[in-house]
Amino acid sequence: MVDLKSQYQKIKAEVDAGIQDVIDSAAFINGPAVKEFKASLEKYLGVKHVIPCANGTDALQIAMMALGLKPGDEVITPSFTYIATVEVVGLLGLTPVFCDVDKEHFTMDPAHMEALITDKTKAIVPVHLYGQSAPMEEILAIAKKHNLAIIEDNAQAIGGHYTFSNGKKMANGTMGDIGTTSFFPSKNLGCYGDGGAIFTNDDELAHQISMIANHGQRVRYVHDMVGCNSRLDSIQAAVLNVKLKQLDTYCDARRTVADRYDQAFASNEKITTPKRFGQSHHVFHQYTMLLHDIDRDKVVEELVAHGVPSMIYYPIPAHRQKMFEAFDSENANLESTDWLTQRVISLPIHTEMKEEDQHYIIEKVLKIIK
Ligand SMILES: *Cc1c(COP(=O)(O)O)cnc(C)c1O
Repeated sequence: MVDLKSQYQKIKAEVDAGIQDVIDSAAFINGPAVKEFKASLEKYLGVKHVIPCANGTDALQIAMMALGLKPGDEVITPSFTYIATVEVVGLLGLTPVFCDVDKEHFTMDPAHMEALITDKTKAIVPVHLYGQSAPMEEILAIAKKHNLAIIEDNAQAIGGHYTFSNGKKMANGTMGDIGTTSFFPSKNLGCYGDGGAIFTNDDELAHQISMIANHGQRVRYVHDMVGCNSRLDSIQAAVLNVKLKQLDTYCDARRTVADRYDQAFASNEKITTPKRFGQSHHVFHQYTMLLHDIDRDKVVEELVAHGVPSMIYYPIPAHRQKMFEAFDSENANLESTDWLTQRVISLPIHTEMKEEDQHYIIEKVLKIIK
């Protein structure tokens, strides 16, 4: 699905030197590499504060803690997402309220979202799924009307942006109150282990977030609240300092691969290629298409037989997971989510895809799905 080895070969000298610097200086925790990365990412995203942390799941948890959410508060999230988005809601004793997605773009449906708002609703977590911004203009307007906080789960769409109808462009993860991301190796900006970050333009929230990520510590050994221990280590920051400079190139490479798939499958009646919002600059963390009137398991099997990997993201939506049975969530009426779960399939997409390899994949897909 990805080719991190070839990608590394192209930046090896710089990455190796960065890692060696960390080891030579022994500044393993919160060293200069972490400070450099924080500042570079703030500049890249055009956001006031980036707080690095240990992974994308922690980032979501810390974001919800920083908003002061309390047990019983309702948080609206899509069910059609990676489980981490919703898991932290349950972990903090908050109540997940599952929102349906738009069948064409896979992102949160703003009309359904608004219908789910109650007087217990405190926050909304749109997910920029597969690399495409959720319809933030609509979501932000509804949140403002009902005075709700927005946490953008930007684990899959860093490097992408959204253009508002007044022409203003904003980086994904910087439009809501808080944005979160993951640097898991296969993400668009991935390190060589675990990593994550939290973004905000709000000084007060930034202060809370930094404190929570560091044992609720105000000054050394003075702890104002119960927090956690969530850090990006310096070796991972050294890798990210090199890769951040490549992020735009990486996103362009993914878009080129997506364009080729789109073109190749456009006239196949059993395939629906992913739709793009005009306002969203899609950075294709995944290339996920829909299959109709064909046995998907068999397609996956036949692709494997030809050496072509594929994945189902996600085979069971969050509202059908046993972990949420206490919320009676399987009775949530999420028609599009259930419909999509039966039909999606993701093909290999990455920064190092050679045109001839992609032609091979396309040829096999079209041979199997006809
Ligand atoms: C990867 C991912 C996360 C979690 O990130 P980790 O770094 O693996 O904890 C959260 N949300 C979404 C949408 C993701 O894709």
